[in-house]
Amino acid sequence: MKMKYALVNNERQEPQSGLIGKCQCCNSPVVAKCGDLRVHHWAHKTKLQCDPWWEESEWHRAWKEQFPKEWQEIIHKAENDEKHIADVKTDQGFVIEFQHSHLDPQERAAREAFYQNMVWVVDGTRLKRDYPRFLEGRKNFTSGYKKGFSLVHFPEECFPVAWINSSMMVIFDFQGTLPNDPQDGMRNTLWGLFPGRAKGRAVLMGISRQDFVMTAMKQPYLLPERPHELVNAYDKLLAELEEKR
Ligand SMILES: [Zn+2]
Repeated sequence: MKMKYALVNNERQEPQSGLIGKCQCCNSPVVAKCGDLRVHHWAHKTKLQCDPWWEESEWHRAWKEQFPKEWQEIIHKAENDEKHIADVKTDQGFVIEFQHSHLDPQERAAREAFYQNMVWVVDGTRLKRDYPRFLEGRKNFTSGYKKGFSLVHFPEECFPVAWINSSMMVIFDFQGTLPNDPQDGMRNTLWGLFPGRAKGRAVLMGISRQDFVMTAMKQPYLLPERPHELVNAYDKLLAELEEKR
């Protein structure tokens, strides 16, 4: 379990050669690993995995570092004392979880219930087919009547199936840590799939990486309204449009 932060004299610190710290989550001793090859990190002295939900990779690290230090790797505790380390938790209590590995829908739902006020950012470069499938599916998107928004009739044909029925917004990052290709604007854009459906259609928002970070820092859920409220508004709008026909 690799982490960017551990407690040294009760203060959160990044690893430095020779330092021993304490894990923020389980209090066990952790050792600073500062080799040349891998990103510097803290590791438990034993092979302990104190937070079974934890993942860390270069992709995770690059994303976390877009946010203030005080918001990265924050212990989130539920009323029943269950605790996990949130990748990012803003000063408004909004959690951003970066997910690289496959998650079963059941497992995904458990984490959503735990964090509640959250958004997923999913690594869309894990499987080779994910991006081509999105590009293919994109041909069938229809206008979302607002700049940046689209409606998707068959989200299961565009996105990994484990994510399409999430109860939280899921943002797909098809760029990951790949070198940026200026020709490929689609890849660099983040695609946010909203929870729920509006007249059977999924609502999708395209957002630049920069806007995502800026908005998430200011506003939970990235919008003035909650994602469900936005989808409900679409549901009403589509019903009205159908009536007019
Ligand atoms: Zn630990």
